[in-house]
Amino acid sequence: MTVLRLLKTPPVHKDYSATGVAAGDSARIVAARTTGIVTEAQARHGASPTVTAALGRLLTGALLMGSSLRGKERITLQVQGKGPAGALIADVVAGGRVRGYPMRPRAELPLNAGGKFDVSGIVGDGFLHVTRTFDTGVPYTSAVPLASGEIGDDLAHFFAHSEQVPTVVAVGVLANPQGVLAAGGFIAQLLPGADEKTIEFLEKNARSLPQVSSLIRRGLSPEDIVAQVGHALEPRITHLQPAAFSCSCNRNRVVRALIGLGPQELEAMAAAENDTEATCDFCGQRYFFSPQEIRDILDSAGEAKEASQE
Ligand code: ZN
Repeated sequence: MTVLRLLKTPPVHKDYSATGVAAGDSARIVAARTTGIVTEAQARHGASPTVTAALGRLLTGALLMGSSLRGKERITLQVQGKGPAGALIADVVAGGRVRGYPMRPRAELPLNAGGKFDVSGIVGDGFLHVTRTFDTGVPYTSAVPLASGEIGDDLAHFFAHSEQVPTVVAVGVLANPQGVLAAGGFIAQLLPGADEKTIEFLEKNARSLPQVSSLIRRGLSPEDIVAQVGHALEPRITHLQPAAFSCSCNRNRVVRALIGLGPQELEAMAAAENDTEATCDFCGQRYFFSPQEIRDILDSAGEAKEASQE
């Protein structure tokens, strides 16, 4: 009974991921619906349609890559492109909590020749940096040149060249000027000891499917997508996980960041007439501190320093 309850599909409007195995447990397939996450990212950052498509694909990729994170593990994706959007950053922690931001949210380009958002144009040439932070807090970063700037290709290129794991990646955002209509994606990759032919099957299945955002738009669930990508390889769902845009910032963390600026900066803020405003890059949350509050932070930081010297 427990298993049945765990595998019960969440309501249709909720974002979540489905993880499965196929080909005798030699391949893993993860699919996700991220429409709500991308809608929220668009609203929080006031992002243009093309930047929303680029960031939405990256957020979806991060969520898919982070589907098996535990404890304090984290994956951070940084697209450092030379295009108008500047850098794009997304990170994911255990429990399907993902967040991200574009450096220049309002950058925009005309639709490309195919009538699609010009994601590769707005990203430009550059590098994809992938940082895996282990439960111990130790980070490990590797970087690959961007394959096309379309994000999905870049993630597949990273898996093939940096991690030597044959992987099929599809991430997509369907939007119109009014907003995000559907977003989602899938990753299919071989597990150690897999037959190399399995990846050809997975690639063939992936190529035969319509764009992943239109599958989501049609109402296919992440489980349906796992089944389609693993077609003829006896796919089996192993777990479902909720997914959401979620930022770990809070007032205490902002206070610590302010202390990190040093006493001179804080003195200047305490002497100012206006409140000091600090904005979280990841989620756009604004925090305000009156000159008196800055004074209190200065005093408490001074006391903490004295205490640590005793
Ligand atoms: Zn935040």
